[in-house]
Amino acid sequence: MTDLFAGLDIGGQSIKGIVVDAGGVVAAEASRATPASSGAKAVLAAVSEVVRELSEVGRLKSVGVGTPGGVDPQGVIVGMAANIKGWYGTELGREISSMASGIPCGVRNDGNIATYAEWAVRGGRTKNLLFLGLGTGIGGGYVEDGRILGGRDDRAPEVGHFIIEPRGRHCACGVEGCSEAYASGPSVGRIAAALARGEDARLGSIGIAAAEALLGRRATERDYTSFIEGSALAARAQAGESINAREVYEAFASGDKLGVFADAIMIESLARTTATALAFLAPDLVVFGGGVIKGAPHIPVKVASLVPNLVYRDAWISCGFERAMLSHKAGLLGAAWYGAAQAAGKDFALGLAAAAVDRA
Ligand SMILES: [Zn+2]
Repeated sequence: MTDLFAGLDIGGQSIKGIVVDAGGVVAAEASRATPASSGAKAVLAAVSEVVRELSEVGRLKSVGVGTPGGVDPQGVIVGMAANIKGWYGTELGREISSMASGIPCGVRNDGNIATYAEWAVRGGRTKNLLFLGLGTGIGGGYVEDGRILGGRDDRAPEVGHFIIEPRGRHCACGVEGCSEAYASGPSVGRIAAALARGEDARLGSIGIAAAEALLGRRATERDYTSFIEGSALAARAQAGESINAREVYEAFASGDKLGVFADAIMIESLARTTATALAFLAPDLVVFGGGVIKGAPHIPVKVASLVPNLVYRDAWISCGFERAMLSHKAGLLGAAWYGAAQAAGKDFALGLAAAAVDRA
């Protein structure tokens, strides 16, 4: 009988689980809605149901887990995890291990797990990989030769909270000017809506740089008005519709002027974020993933074209920029592969990832 390796992806919306066998084949999947507002006990009960369903396929050898928030080396949730009520202090590693007959359980921040997946699926060929996940927030991580560099409590690198415009837009974390306040899915939608309604979007120098990138010269007040004139996206926002990244990128694809300007703001914001990360971490490869990238596959190439203006040459000259290979499955597969690496070693986990690529 083959060894089985489980992965869990615990999110604010759902708890997903997967089991892969020693040949990398998916042997089982299970999921439950996350009772996020009912507290940690209710969430753990749902996790337990997922683990029980996964265990029906056979005896599990390891379980890897991705969760929002900070995680200490014992698998205790220590950071803010705003999307699950009462998550702070949960002894997640111990709880899940006991749900699964005491097998080893490796718990990491979900951004770091997704990064591990993108590293593993490239067969370990990229030594230093930086991941930016663009979704409702901006998550990310950094893997160096199979080792997740999470810093204290697995928080690092908080790419969503790099300051890219001092005293700029208000971020949910309480600080002003974070990258997440400009380049997350909801943020790019809110910016487009604010511009359409003539509100102050607090773009500062980001707006100036984005307009200049489009016009090839310094923008005037008249130029800013022209981004809204005749824009169907602006009309929707003015009619009170809520705008998200999906609406922005549908508009962008059709050549809508506000959609194009909002994209330029997104690209400038991501270029600033990436440039800071390049100076700090010197990756070989930057991978862009998350829901937003599906509608905006041009992001890596465009960001790469701006980065040379924002960071010294040696930081970007040998660095690649590309899209994620695993879309929505990164969190799940990454968790299973990470758990397997803890139980059976890095090369074994790479074998599981290679098998997944072969079948894709
Ligand atoms: Zn922030």
